[in-house]
Amino acid sequence: MTQKGLLIVISGPSGCGKGTICKELRRQHPEIKVSVSATTREIRSGETDGKDYFFISKEEFERHIEEGEFLEYARIYSGNYYGTPKKYVRDTLLSGNDLILEIDIQGALQVKEKFEEGVFIFLVPPSMEELHRRLVQRGRETPELIMERFKAAYEEMNFINRYNYVVTNDKVDEAIRKIEAIIAAEKCRVIRNDALLNEILNGGV
Ligand code: 5GP
Repeated sequence: MTQKGLLIVISGPSGCGKGTICKELRRQHPEIKVSVSATTREIRSGETDGKDYFFISKEEFERHIEEGEFLEYARIYSGNYYGTPKKYVRDTLLSGNDLILEIDIQGALQVKEKFEEGVFIFLVPPSMEELHRRLVQRGRETPELIMERFKAAYEEMNFINRYNYVVTNDKVDEAIRKIEAIIAAEKCRVIRNDALLNEILNGGV
């Protein structure tokens, strides 16, 4: 049975732990592909160009926008661009591989417009206090930027009903088990299994 790959979009407010969850999913499920986004933000220590992001200039990013090369893109904190290369997504799904996009909410909503059959998972922190604690603890941003992200998180929680699933990221392993269950259930949906039905009916007796 062949079935086109599943597009799984994981998003949620900054600090909800998307990065950690996606990294762990990648480690436990090397068969699931993860799209590498392009960004204009500065590379951080420990990051690798082409693995964490494609770090490109604003001019280059805007050229890719004009050439229609992004499935979605957004300007996020501090005005930096982030975008998902369309070609990689298309090629991966057509070759039957499942693919995860770890993107912000603006981007997820754009993907939903174009790709209704995707699986949209909203990751939430156990509480807003915990989200604030995580933003401070990771020590990546200035206090001003932490406040900007925290305020944005409140707004972003309002978009939860545009998603198909909500997963609380309290314990990483539990969140991973839930995402695995979502993926398994989605693959069993009748709508995704035309080929299976044909195979059963035409397989002979
Ligand atoms: P960071 O700068 O901390 O790596 O990421 C900032 C935010 O950008 C995160 O919420 C992350 O999910 C989001 N992001 C990363 N790649 C993309 C992308 O290709 N498109 C969109 N819309 N958001 C992205």
